[in-house]
Amino acid sequence: MIIVLVGAPGAGKGTHGKRIAAKRHLPHVSSGDLLREAVGSGTPLGRQAERYMKAGVLVPDKIMLLWVEKLLDMPEYEAGIVLDGFPRTVPQAEGLDEILAKRDLGVDRALFFDIEEAAAVRRLAKRVSCTNCGLVYNLDAKPPETPGECDRCGGTLDVRADDREATVHARFVEFRGSTKPMIEYYRSQGKLIRIDTTGSIAEVGKRVTAAIDLLDGLEPPESAAG
Ligand SMILES: [Zn+2]
Repeated sequence: MIIVLVGAPGAGKGTHGKRIAAKRHLPHVSSGDLLREAVGSGTPLGRQAERYMKAGVLVPDKIMLLWVEKLLDMPEYEAGIVLDGFPRTVPQAEGLDEILAKRDLGVDRALFFDIEEAAAVRRLAKRVSCTNCGLVYNLDAKPPETPGECDRCGGTLDVRADDREATVHARFVEFRGSTKPMIEYYRSQGKLIRIDTTGSIAEVGKRVTAAIDLLDGLEPPESAAG
């Protein structure tokens, strides 16, 4: 089963992606994992990716896709994969389809975690991490015992640079420009399921489960995918 997770920052696709993966016994691979694994592999492909990363430029789609292709041929990915944050553009999605088609496979579902920018900004402002050890807290769901202080090491807690409003805005601009067309791409193939991300993690989790159960041909509950 090949599941693709799409969503703007703060939409919760990482959290829910890991839950889907655990439930379905599938590996969960984020775009960051893809690059780390490629570099860590020490293969020529990994070394190529590393050079781009060191230069601070985006790793070209071709290299990312070659790496995905390599992964899909490894035994641990035989049952499928939950891809989180990759593909994120139409050319990447087309490239993925080509790779899968060669193996008589295809993307089974693209789950679109839909969130308004203002809601994402509010949500991400509650995610803080320790500036010393990196432990992540959520001021609503998992607050530190002492406000502003890390439970583990006593370090100072702060909102990550990636989660600050200006950065979140920039990521939304990129999302609207490059990723929205990909959402249409999957919609036109009849593979897109939009997930309403309002409410608690448990509430959203129920919608996600319902959406995934559709793959088994089960009837979704009325509250299914938004
Ligand atoms: Zn700490």
